[in-house]
Amino acid sequence: MVTEKYWQRAVHEECYRREFVGQIDLEDSHKYVNTVRYSHKRIMHPQGGFAATRLRIPFLARLHFKGIRSDIEVYSKAFSAPTLQDFLGLLIDHEGYHAKEIYENPEVILPSIVKYLQNQLSVYQSIANPGPQQCSS
Ligand SMILES: [Zn+2]
Repeated sequence: MVTEKYWQRAVHEECYRREFVGQIDLEDSHKYVNTVRYSHKRIMHPQGGFAATRLRIPFLARLHFKGIRSDIEVYSKAFSAPTLQDFLGLLIDHEGYHAKEIYENPEVILPSIVKYLQNQLSVYQSIANPGPQQCSS
């Protein structure tokens, strides 16, 4: 159970955030979420800017096994939410909802494992072969 006082502390003290997110009561989303962890990493959001939170999807769910709980990773940006309620809504309602979908209907939500691995492979290949250099003058 987190309170306004703990929230304010987590906003101002980065070192406290790991402990803070560990104390969050996920309410109804608890069933679908394995762990909630704070990470110092800065992850880009697919639509631009930095991500506030991300769902880490277990491999078994990617194989379309049902009943697999995901992990929520919380980033620094989540602590710029205007209020504790907004922050909790992001975790419990938003990521909790995605976790529920993955728990119940992974085959509807997630691409096939073959497609997933092909995507991963093309990411690694683009890192290995950055392509022609774009030079200005
Ligand atoms: Zn979403």
